[in-house]
Amino acid sequence: MNMDEDTTKNWKEVNMPNPVILNSQKLYQYILETSVYPREPEPLKQLRDATANHPQAFIGMAPDAGQLMAMLLKLVNPTKTIEIGVFTGYSLLLTALTIPDHGKITAIDMDQEAFEIGLPIIRKAGVQHKIDFIQSPAQPVLDKLLEDTDNEGSFDFAFVDADKGNYWNYHERLVKLIKVEGIIIYDNTLWGGSVALPEEAVPASKRDWRSSTIHFNTSVSMDPRIQIAHVPSGDGILICRRIY
Ligand code: SAH
Ligand code: CA
Repeated sequence: MNMDEDTTKNWKEVNMPNPVILNSQKLYQYILETSVYPREPEPLKQLRDATANHPQAFIGMAPDAGQLMAMLLKLVNPTKTIEIGVFTGYSLLLTALTIPDHGKITAIDMDQEAFEIGLPIIRKAGVQHKIDFIQSPAQPVLDKLLEDTDNEGSFDFAFVDADKGNYWNYHERLVKLIKVEGIIIYDNTLWGGSVALPEEAVPASKRDWRSSTIHFNTSVSMDPRIQIAHVPSGDGILICRRIY
């Protein structure tokens, strides 16, 4: 298949459950079944099961992207992390299971109800003490943190998985909050593959965040403060490392 054929694919053909941007459901299943599910910690599997019947289950973090994030977390070994967009807590529990026992996660989401679906599993896994859940839209929380200059450069790791229209706003704040050498990961940066499709091929309901994501990806690629790696795992994750 050549590239031209590829761009003529419509949303339905490229948008797969979860969502994944890999253009082959079979290949994605292969990765999940060979490398991801056999190594997935039991509590994460339970959380995925507990979320499966949620009408928005598809917005949970893709387990293959989670596996990569766990690898990065182990390498960074962060004690102070922040997460924007918790939902039922897959990425939050993954982070809590991976960071050291004295590590802390500031987790922000206005949806307390979804968080409570995963909370019993987080408690059972014995990692709740690492989590400070703040029920709020994210931006005011970041602004509040920045009012105290002690918070500048104090976070080791950040994960962003919330409203795509605000990613650049979050980025401007997180680049200040994260320390030099710290990591920020953005999820869904390929937005179901729609970033590479003409707007007409994308359902109207997805166009707004498609356009925000396109702008975000371009802006980040021009940001000299960070090193980046854009990885086609899950629905696309953009990994940023603060350079200065
Ligand atoms: N990381 C989660 C998935 C997050 S889904 C997981 O692994 O399962 C996106 C979440 O972002 C939703 O729970 C939604 O409530 C939250 N969200 C959307 N807009 C937000 C905002 N402005 N501030 C904080 N959270 C927001
Ligand atoms: Ca996501």
